[in-house]
Amino acid sequence: MNTALLKNISKQTCAWCGGKYHDRAHVPTKFLIPKSERNNSKWPILPSCQQCNQGLKLDEEWLTIHFSSMLYDYSDVAKKMFDGPVTKHLQKLTPIAARYNKYLSLVELKVNGNSLGLKTRIDMSQEDCNRLERVAEMFARGLYYWHNQQTAQKLKAKVVYLTPKRFKDFSTHMKPLKLYPIFPITFEYAYGYVSATGEAAFIIMIYGKPAFQILLIKKEKYDRMESKVKSGEIIQIHEPSIEIY
Ligand SMILES: [Zn+2]
Repeated sequence: MNTALLKNISKQTCAWCGGKYHDRAHVPTKFLIPKSERNNSKWPILPSCQQCNQGLKLDEEWLTIHFSSMLYDYSDVAKKMFDGPVTKHLQKLTPIAARYNKYLSLVELKVNGNSLGLKTRIDMSQEDCNRLERVAEMFARGLYYWHNQQTAQKLKAKVVYLTPKRFKDFSTHMKPLKLYPIFPITFEYAYGYVSATGEAAFIIMIYGKPAFQILLIKKEKYDRMESKVKSGEIIQIHEPSIEIY
């Protein structure tokens, strides 16, 4: 653990916005991690203001529900999370849980006329897709602070949602990055830092599967990327409004 950082935490300002210190925040959030793994000295704990700490609570809840249900058949830890705390949570029928139940359906997947069995399908609103991106961005900015002891406020975040299939095309991006398996299989990330510009790249893996690529880049670069998307020069990979795992 970065004990120096932890000791000085109360003297510090928010790792995300630079605002007034209020509380400590875990990255990743507690709700994502099984209770049996929570006693972990590698877990980044960061200084946070009240707004940054509270503001993403619903989004984090959403992230855990989403990945534990989507990866249920692929990952033991996802199954354990879904069968345990997530199911308990969904049964409470909070507004977010009720909405998630509505998005899920089972469909028969067919390839060349052959059935591959029932698969989970999710039809998610754009607003709820954005929730996933917001948490991914928050994780990346928090981890940036953890590595560099400074906020990434001057950088823009470009978040790409990765499905297992999409990740195959992405695997070359992993090579220059260093892997940090802070919760082996449950939550791992690969990180690369460009010291000349202060920019960074992350690939975040949740429950053993690649989940997001996040670039923290200068505004000029971000704007150039966005204009290339607009002109059709590069294709925007869009988020999982309909995704079958
Ligand atoms: Zn803040």
